[in-house]
Amino acid sequence: MEKIHYPLRTNIGYFFNKPIGFFRDFEVVNPAVFIEPDLQLYNLSGRYTFSRTREGLLLQGAFEAEIDSYCNRCLDPFRAILSTEFEELYVFENRTQEEFDEEVVPEDGYIDLGKPIRDYLLLDLPINLICKPDCKGICVECGVNLNRETCEHTASRIIFE
Ligand SMILES: [Zn+2]
Ligand SMILES: [Zn+2]
Repeated sequence: MEKIHYPLRTNIGYFFNKPIGFFRDFEVVNPAVFIEPDLQLYNLSGRYTFSRTREGLLLQGAFEAEIDSYCNRCLDPFRAILSTEFEELYVFENRTQEEFDEEVVPEDGYIDLGKPIRDYLLLDLPINLICKPDCKGICVECGVNLNRETCEHTASRIIFE
């Protein structure tokens, strides 16, 4: 299957000649989207706003998506839900952006939303991804998944916790 390389590329060219303060709200819903170079998302949904500012364009977004992951406790594969809220300023190139580490408004008028969505989702990635809040994990003695089975060590494990 052929991959679409930048499925979240968005035309913002028509903002260039709009007055400061002009904004538009958008919604995104995508059942499966791959973000270069490494992030496969499922059920991506979110809302975002582009606003014309003095410096350029301000992107404000809130997104939620699922990724394939492994539970840190029981090691089973599961779909983890990630969410993020962020702001990103894209400045026009003729501004003195050298001193800042800001994104630049692309001259072709297309911004790839995939990049900030990926960056901020991974930034907000929980350190401890678990399949469910009451996941029982695996037995440290024999390795059985305690969500599905019990073992002879279960009793002593509970005492030591
Ligand atoms: Zn688990
Ligand atoms: Zn055991």
